[in-house]
Order: sequence, then C-alpha cells, then structure tokens
Amino acid sequence: MMEYDVIIVGAGPAGASAALVSASLNLKTLVVEKKKIPRQKACSGILVPASLTFLRNYFGDLPDEIFSRPKEVRSMRMHFGGGRVVDATIGGLMVWRDRLDEWLCRHAGAEILDGTTLETLVEKDDGVELLCRDPDGEKLSMRCRVLIAADGGPSTVVRLLEPVLHKRLRWYVALQDIYECSCNLEPGLFHFFARPEISPYLSAYVKDDRLVMDVVVSVGQRATDVMDRFRAFLWPRVGVEKASLAGRLGCRVTYAAPKGLFCFGTHRVLVAGEASGLLNNFGEGISSALASGLIAGRAAERGLREGVPPGRIYREEIEGEKRKTLNTFDYRRFLFGKSSAIHFGARSVPLSWRERIGLAGDVVRWLLRMRKSR
Ligand SMILES: Cc1cc2nc3c(=O)[nH]c(=O)nc-3n(C[C@H](O)[C@H](O)[C@H](O)COP(=O)(O)OP(=O)(O)OC[C@H]3O[C@@H](n4cnc5c(N)ncnc54)[C@H](O)[C@@H]3O)c2cc1C
Repeated sequence: MMEYDVIIVGAGPAGASAALVSASLNLKTLVVEKKKIPRQKACSGILVPASLTFLRNYFGDLPDEIFSRPKEVRSMRMHFGGGRVVDATIGGLMVWRDRLDEWLCRHAGAEILDGTTLETLVEKDDGVELLCRDPDGEKLSMRCRVLIAADGGPSTVVRLLEPVLHKRLRWYVALQDIYECSCNLEPGLFHFFARPEISPYLSAYVKDDRLVMDVVVSVGQRATDVMDRFRAFLWPRVGVEKASLAGRLGCRVTYAAPKGLFCFGTHRVLVAGEASGLLNNFGEGISSALASGLIAGRAAERGLREGVPPGRIYREEIEGEKRKTLNTFDYRRFLFGKSSAIHFGARSVPLSWRERIGLAGDVVRWLLRMRKSR
C-alpha cells in the first residue's frame, strides 16, 4: 500500500497548484495523472490577468517556451449576427497547454505518477483509500489522509461521490482543430462568433501562425459536422488558403455553475478546479483552477494540523471563487459591470449607452436563439 498525506488526482492547473502548496507545507504529496506528461488539453490557452498574477506570485516567472506567438491576447472580438463587432479587453497571454501544465507540474515539487488512472475510492474516518491502474493495467492500492480531486470537468471523483448530481449535469463536447494555412484573421485577438444556428460556442484565433478553431456541441450531435459548418462559414470570410489539419483535440465539458451544481467534496475529499464546477461563462477556467487548488492545498494542511475536517475549511474558503464564477453568468454584470474577468467597462474607449443597448439586444437575441437550438 502506497501511503501519503495528500494525494492529488489530475495534473492540470488545479492539481499543480494544490501540489505546490501541499509539498511546500512539508506534506508527503503524490500527483496521480492518467495521461503521460506532457499531456494535451483542448484549450485556447489564454491566461487572463487573474491567472497571470497568480502564476507570478506562486510559481514565479513563466519560461518563454510555453507561450505561443503572438504572446499577447488583447481582446475578445465578438462577432454578432447582424454584423455588429465588439471588442472586450482581455489583456492576457497565450500558452500551449501541454507546455504550461508540464512546467507547473514539475515546478510544484511533488512526486508525480503519470499514466496512472484513479478508478475507485473509499473514504474512511481517518483517510481515503484509492484503487488506481498503472500504465500496464496493474492495480495500485494507495492511501492518503486527504484526497484532492483535480481531475477536470468529467471528474471520476465527482461521479463516485455525487452520482445524482453528476446525472443532472448537461454535457457538451468541445472539438478543437488546428490548421496550417494562410489566412487574414487578425492575430492577437480571440474571435468569438455568436452564431447559435451553427453552435452555441464558436471561436477562432491565430496561434504560432496556425489557425485554431473551437466548437462546442451537445452530446449526441456530431462535432465534426458542426466543425465542417463552421469552416464553411469562416474560411471564405478570412481568406483561408492551403489549409491542412495539423491537430485535433476534444473533451467533454459541462456548465455546472448556472444550475448551482457545484461539488466541493466531503470531509477528506476536496474537489478543486473544473471538477468542482468552477468554469466561467466565457469557458475560462484556469484562474479558478489555480486558485481553488491553492485553497484546497491550504485547507488540507490546516485541517491535518488542527485535527478538523479539511473539507469544512475548504467549503468555507472556496465561497469567493464560487461567487466569481456565478457572477460571470449574470448578464447585467457581464455587459455593464466591473467585477467579471472580461467586461466592457475595461475598454480603453468605453461603449456609449447607445452601443451598450444595441449590444444587450444582440446578446438577448443570441441567448434566445441558443435556447431554441438546444
Ligand atoms: C475548447 C476550450 C477552450 C478553453 N480555453 C480556455 C482558455 O483560453 N483559458 C482558460 O482559462 N480556460 C480555458 N478553458 C477551460 C480550461 O481548459 C479548464 O477550465 C482548465 O483546464 C481546468 O483545469 P483543471 O486543472 O481543473 O482540469 P484539467 O486541466 O482538465 O486537468 C485535469 C487532469 O486530470 C486528469 N484526470 C482525469 N481523470 C483522471 C483519473 N481518473 N485519474 C487520474 N487523472 C485523471 C486529466 O487527464 C487531466 O490531466 C477552455 C476549455 C475548453 C474546452
């Protein structure tokens, strides 16, 4: 039996951040990751200012190799149906996720077991017993005093802990295509297309001279058909030529927050990152993954030191992150407020009231259309 103070499942940003804290607080810490590191993740790789500040404060300067070019993502350019185009400031930087996550994970200073999948767990009064499967398919038994589940949106841990909640979640599939091509889509911007007749979520951007396109579809729809329709819409508009598919990634996604279906775990199992439901309305999840991993790592240490259930501490401390995520689903704040990660108040040239009202109309039309197309 392998024994640890803290075992973290998942080597994404939430897992790396939890590992950094736990290891630095002298807890014997293991990260279990089902894929081989570096692992790919379907993600645009935008580090918003909150992520950048967190990373600089806790991990230090990020190495240049993890960034794509152009490095800066100035704004989200929203293309609405009637031809309205609105820029919302992001002020972020763009990375390749395999490189970022590998760097974070190695930098965290914990022991890592990759290629190893958590299958089941049993929570006891004084710890958690895990059964994992190694790369050769062999069973591995492990035990820890606290388990931090940072295993992403389609979390095995949440499915095991909260089967009823898990069944209530509505699932989507995100498909990301990367094309070698020439095109005139403006770089340095994240282009979002409000075209719900194609898909509720369509985005495209230039990364290291490649065109990246993301679509999100309901489970049951063929994501590749939707990607075909998005290509037919976008390519003539941005003059794509000599295109060849260089990469394709996919994953399952759910939006737990608008339905309040968060899961932060139990006494000794702390659920962090996207697994817990911390994914905001813009599909931005790295900032809350990092923050919740840190909060979980600290709660584990404090709980063990003070002899109180770490889960209780965690649920109190995570409230602020939960609130931030929920705020992004509040369209009044999103359009006019100052507290969401991406907001129009941050534009260097603020929107006039006339523009805001026009834009609010576009957003409402888009939401109604989206509801109809579901
Ligand atoms: C198309 C798309 C674009 C996005 N763009 C952005 C963006 O630009 N900026 C942003 O901030 N966010 C973005 N997001 C969201 C972001 O990718 C996630 O919110 C973020 O990765 C969550 O981090 P995490 O650490 O919680 O989980 P993840 O990064 O998903 O990591 C979870 C890890 O757990 C591992 N794992 C899962 N199950 C097991 C198991 N049973 N045993 C062991 N290991 C396991 C997985 O292999 C994975 O490595 C995007 C998402 C999508 C789908």
